[in-house]
Amino acid sequence: MIIEQLVPSSPRTVGAHRVRIGDVAFGDDRIPIIAGPCAVEPDYIEHAQVAAAAGASALRGCVFKPRTHPASFQGAGMKGLELLDEARRLTGLPVLAEPLEVADVERLRPHVDALLIGTRSMHNTPLLRAAGRTALPVVVKRGMSATYDEWLAAAEYVAESGNDQIILCERGIRTFETATRNTLDVSAIAVLREKTDLPIIVDPSHATGRGAWVAPLALAAVAAGADGLLIECHPSPQHALCDGAQAITPAELTALTRAVQMLSASVRPSLPRSVDDARHSLDAIDSAIAGLIDRRARVVDALTRVKQELGVPLRDRGREQDVISRVQQRAPSLHPDAAALVMRAVIEACLTSSSAFQASDDVDLMVARVR
Ligand code: PEP
Ligand code: MN
Repeated sequence: MIIEQLVPSSPRTVGAHRVRIGDVAFGDDRIPIIAGPCAVEPDYIEHAQVAAAAGASALRGCVFKPRTHPASFQGAGMKGLELLDEARRLTGLPVLAEPLEVADVERLRPHVDALLIGTRSMHNTPLLRAAGRTALPVVVKRGMSATYDEWLAAAEYVAESGNDQIILCERGIRTFETATRNTLDVSAIAVLREKTDLPIIVDPSHATGRGAWVAPLALAAVAAGADGLLIECHPSPQHALCDGAQAITPAELTALTRAVQMLSASVRPSLPRSVDDARHSLDAIDSAIAGLIDRRARVVDALTRVKQELGVPLRDRGREQDVISRVQQRAPSLHPDAAALVMRAVIEACLTSSSAFQASDDVDLMVARVR
């Protein structure tokens, strides 16, 4: 009984069994948010980037979808895997996806950083075993009518197959209430804390079924001690191909990320961070920054080509100042002068790398080039 070995003999201390998805640690004093659309859609790259910019630590990237009705969108399938690769590269964030059958595990393995066992699959023991045979972390969602012990037994299948990198995910259970899609069982967090050291995360999206109810329940979960959140986020929920009603917007995700950070600081004991840990976080952040700057440079390149064709100046100092002011507002931890310095450098780097700039004989631009 591998899971039992993880049963804490005394009340759990944060960090007792830490599971990393990519560089993101679950089970320590931070509360990572895994976010993204319910399903990978054609515009997934943009969806992933806005989720990253809104504070996601990891991305939902489900290409195979377990839908209740066969006529519903079944997911992008294998052709969605290229989008996962690109999203991972551009954002620098780890990606999670759900295998529906044993063969999906091998299909997903090269493209993802963790496997997600959905509520409908929690009883699929061959699938649990197949996930357990990989070296990937496995998020085991609670079956919608599973008891805690049945849920832990499912995790045991993964562990018994040689993989103890398991995260449990409470996603709401079936009750007599119909106003919400499911009923979030907040008790699960407190009860399982006494039974296992595995990190426990919460999915308030599938628990509630409505975007407006996601943030309050996410905060309830954090207050109860959840180690992370799994949230559906879509830039245009009304156009989502799957579960749009429960998706929150990137702006709502940004606000929730901040609220979670503030709440977690007061409800979780803060551990002194090791140098190693801090560097892990910085590496993940730097990769995300590099991916975003790369993306920005490509957009600037396209924009400057259009401007060149139209014969309008490539540079617009007024607009640059607006961009800088916005960054100063959005990065309150930086001194305003420092925020301006960073953004000016980014603007300059993107502009001077653009092909239109390289080819231009605009005097204003040449001054910038000489400088
Ligand atoms: C999901 O998170 O993509 C999902 C299908 O959720 P659940 O299995 O909890 O219904
Ligand atoms: Mn969904």
